[in-house]
Amino acid sequence: MKIAFIGLGNMGGGMAANLVKAGHAVQAFDLSEAALAAAREAGCATFSTAHEACAGADAVVSMLPNGAIVKQVYWDEVIGHAPEGAILLDCSTIDVATAREVISVTEAHGYQMVDAPVSGGIAAAAGGTLTFMVGGSDEAFARAQPILAAMGKAVIHAGKPGTGQAAKICNNMLLAIHMIGTCEAFAMAEKLGLDAQTFYDIASVSSGQCWSMTSYCPVPGVGPVTPADKGYEGGFAAGLMLKDLKLAMEAAEGAGATVALGAHAKAIYEAFAAENAATDFSGIIRTL
Ligand code: NAD
Repeated sequence: MKIAFIGLGNMGGGMAANLVKAGHAVQAFDLSEAALAAAREAGCATFSTAHEACAGADAVVSMLPNGAIVKQVYWDEVIGHAPEGAILLDCSTIDVATAREVISVTEAHGYQMVDAPVSGGIAAAAGGTLTFMVGGSDEAFARAQPILAAMGKAVIHAGKPGTGQAAKICNNMLLAIHMIGTCEAFAMAEKLGLDAQTFYDIASVSSGQCWSMTSYCPVPGVGPVTPADKGYEGGFAAGLMLKDLKLAMEAAEGAGATVALGAHAKAIYEAFAAENAATDFSGIIRTL
């Protein structure tokens, strides 16, 4: 299949390489010359504009920084340039309203489209082990599924357009809340004279157990190896968590959802990311 790939950054670079490995002809574009050079190295054909990359493509995949850029790319570079009937897949994390708007406009121009944001970071993008949560019609999902499967370990149909983004931000809002809660519990245990490993041994088999504790423990030397064991380097940057929390709060406001803890988590990550945007999000424990 001929697949145009737009946005070859930390995530998109690895994803495009995995499409090549799966036997697709990838027509790649990014604004960055370094990203284009890396894509060529991985076997992609590169182009000097996104619309040239879209010419003749059966599918277009995008992995871009935000909703405004996604809109601009689809309006100016994809619509009218990718062949009518092509399947479009936006894997960027963007707001639900923009995702729905872009799908509705592209479908009005004769394309089929899904929002397909990912869970998993740069290592999962490179290793082809991302989880995709996909919003779109049954027919669009059926066409997108095999393309996404070449870049991930799980591809889940969330429902109608925009529900992929909804799943992503609800999941990450919950993650932020239980990470902060886990950090508070470990910090308080220490102040109460309870050893961190002992608290882990108890709480990990008690009702306080959660993913932030047993899969991503924020305390160095406790639980599996995590970014805490590497000085809070790598992993999921606090700045990206803040981006997702902002999207979550916007969506909550639009939908009239009550998110008191989500709003508080956003305020906490806002303060933390002001100085530590590149630090792993579990590094919040250092502030307690
Ligand atoms: P990145 O900044 O590394 O990559 C974005 C790429 O888009 C850059 O190479 C940039 O040059 C390119 N770009 C920007 N505007 C463009 C345009 N108009 N045309 C073509 N290319 C353009 O970001 P990333 O970490 O790869 O993240 C991409 C998306 O994935 C974001 O929406 C992010 O929220 C989401 N995401 C990231 C992670 C992560 O761990 N990095 C995890 C899950 C989801």
